[in-house]
Amino acid sequence: MDHFLYRDGHLMAEDVSLAEIAAAVGTPFYCYSTATLRRHFQLFDDALAGMDHLVCFAMKSLSNIAVLKVLGESGAGMDVVSGGEYARARAAGIPADRIVFSGVGKTREEMAMALDGGLRQFNVESEPELRALSQVAAGMGATAPITLRVNPDVDARTHEKIATGRKTDKFGVPIDRARDIYALAATLPGIEVVGIDVHIGSQLTSLDPFEQAYLKVADLTRELRADGHDIRRLDLGGGLGIPYTRGNDAPPLPSDYGALIRRTVGDLGCEIEIEPGRLISGNAGILVSKLLYVKEESDRRWLIVDAAMNDLIRPAMYGAHHDIVPLTEPESGVGQTEADIVGPVCESGDTFARSRPMPPLAEGDLIAFRSAGAYAAVMASEYNSRPLVPEVLVNGDQFAVIRARPTIDEMLSRDTIPAWL
Ligand SMILES: *Cc1c(COP(=O)(O)O)cnc(C)c1O
Repeated sequence: MDHFLYRDGHLMAEDVSLAEIAAAVGTPFYCYSTATLRRHFQLFDDALAGMDHLVCFAMKSLSNIAVLKVLGESGAGMDVVSGGEYARARAAGIPADRIVFSGVGKTREEMAMALDGGLRQFNVESEPELRALSQVAAGMGATAPITLRVNPDVDARTHEKIATGRKTDKFGVPIDRARDIYALAATLPGIEVVGIDVHIGSQLTSLDPFEQAYLKVADLTRELRADGHDIRRLDLGGGLGIPYTRGNDAPPLPSDYGALIRRTVGDLGCEIEIEPGRLISGNAGILVSKLLYVKEESDRRWLIVDAAMNDLIRPAMYGAHHDIVPLTEPESGVGQTEADIVGPVCESGDTFARSRPMPPLAEGDLIAFRSAGAYAAVMASEYNSRPLVPEVLVNGDQFAVIRARPTIDEMLSRDTIPAWL
């Protein structure tokens, strides 16, 4: 459920008309709903109620500091994957002990930054990374709390580019090598083992792969404890999928996911962390765009809009589906005709939808891409020298620009000309 609904024929973000925001900030723009963000966080928090737990928002899905602040005030921790994300978490006022640091390629500078500022734990992904972290921490006279990300060799049955839990994927250490690496960790200076981490992929639409993975983690917990390690924390990753098509697919609910966690690892006495990104942010955001031209040639209709693949790359990158709806609700019973919805960028990949049934639309009409909160604004680029689109946050009947649209001059001012030119 989200808070982007029609009221009196107008698509609203909570109690604000999106057309009103468009008039104020121009198109395209991203718009996020505070109530939806809070609600989605709460679903996870409630799903783990009664267990010692922390829901760490995977901020790579949506990292605007205002959004992080909304979630942080609800009690969320943050899963960060870079020094930049670590800094964003701190800028949003997230306490250090609620920040977990994931990622396959943390640099020594990033490790030092997080050790210096404080964090809950590093999720270490390889033996060389563990050795580097030991050197950095010992060199600073610090101790790095760590989990080891294990790769359980489970197929998440999701899109190829976002499956991470098979042994051919680049993430984590093979689960059958884990005991050796934990044994090594126990001998390294500056390292304190606190738990185990696993994350098998994103946009999972079945609970089965989670179940397989978590049962393996439960077995490993018992083995590592028998080896003498103090395994007190389990980070179970993120990855629960969302419905991208209204009324069609229905991925598992956070409550069912919570029940699965209880069933598989609930009796181990561990503190539970989860790292949902998409399910919190995905349907909490939309991208609003304006129809520039309607082109009709040889039985095809193209709707050329002012948003492009550089603003929302998921269709081009993953073949992803986004529902596309007009800001003015079509009259009931009005016919739909198929159209290709495309952006202005100079490649055919800049196609949001092919042969999509759409109501009648005219130049200047506004449309919204739904489910554009996660992996959307954060993946935007300035390809074709298109300035990044602004982000707007709605809260009840208020809205605020939380990242302004840069001017073309601002964009150009980042380039510098060498002295010899
Ligand atoms: C991407 C990622 C997540 C979040 O995945 P979602 O599908 O957005 O829930 C969590 N943990 C790690 C380590 C990730 O890389």
